[in-house]
Amino acid sequence: MTAKIIDGKAIADRVRAEVKEAVAKRAAEGKTIPGLATVLVGENPASKVYVRSKQKACAEAGINSFGHNLPEDATQEEVEALVRKLNADPNVNGILVQLPLPKHLDEEKVLGAIDLNKDVDGFHPINIGRLAQKGREPVFIPCTPAGCMVLLEEAGARLTGANAVVLGRSNIVGMPVALLLVKANATVTIVHSRTKNIPEVLREADIIIAAIGQPEFVKKDWVKPGAFIIDVGINQIEDPTSKKGYRLVGDVAFDEVAEVAAAITPVPGGVGPMTIAMLLKNTLRAAELKD
Ligand code: NDP
Repeated sequence: MTAKIIDGKAIADRVRAEVKEAVAKRAAEGKTIPGLATVLVGENPASKVYVRSKQKACAEAGINSFGHNLPEDATQEEVEALVRKLNADPNVNGILVQLPLPKHLDEEKVLGAIDLNKDVDGFHPINIGRLAQKGREPVFIPCTPAGCMVLLEEAGARLTGANAVVLGRSNIVGMPVALLLVKANATVTIVHSRTKNIPEVLREADIIIAAIGQPEFVKKDWVKPGAFIIDVGINQIEDPTSKKGYRLVGDVAFDEVAEVAAAITPVPGGVGPMTIAMLLKNTLRAAELKD
């Protein structure tokens, strides 16, 4: 079997075009233009790149973006005061606090200060709590996990009754995607650094979501033929043949796993583009909630 490649870039482009169209329609109808505020604390180079690409994507979709940068040594009170100011700003529909925050800051308190209806990243403890509760719905679903679910749907994976294995239990990917799969009636196993015999656990999986940050960790003979694979991992590995001296790979050994899986996302070009597309979608939704 050779897997179908799930083209995250193409799917994300479609979502972004839909958002752009909806924003233009709002403008034509005299409704508010959605606005996203980004909060970047410190000088983390990767965070700067992520924030810039989110702002660029907003501009392309016709969404306003408001960048706020605070110094590395900003106090808890300063960060929370900025969040409160943005909560009160009617031009701001969504607030994105770029993670990770510098170590001295209490991330849970900062995220908890965001107005629930502006929590477009979906990391507010109440939004995550609702995700974990039967019969409750979060206002927003975290972007990367939401993107994984769209990719599974687009690939035609059957979720009800499926055995799904999620590698990783982080707050931003592993745990929320596992909760979403439970909501979608899959039977979910979460694998982490203390899990025994990971290959054996994976061999039972109809669906694998890999989000551990370990290059090409999942091997072909750990994967059940016909499984659906979503690879969230982004890892740099040395590659002297590349101009940059490195290349990006996921958490799955793509070439060999593609020989047995039903469908698989590439890295890059799989989950990554979906994260930004879902952020734009959430920001549009935040504006619609206020209509
Ligand atoms: P974290 O470092 O927060 O979490 C990693 C998780 O993987 C932890 O639960 C850890 O277990 C587990 N883990 C680590 N090593 C192993 C191992 N050898 N075996 C089993 N489990 C292991 O990572 P994130 O969730 O933030 O990110 C995961 C990956 O996804 C990264 O490569 C990141 O770059 C990428 N990413 C991609 C995004 C995208 O848009 N495509 C968005 C966000 C992340 P334990 O809990 O026991 O420590």
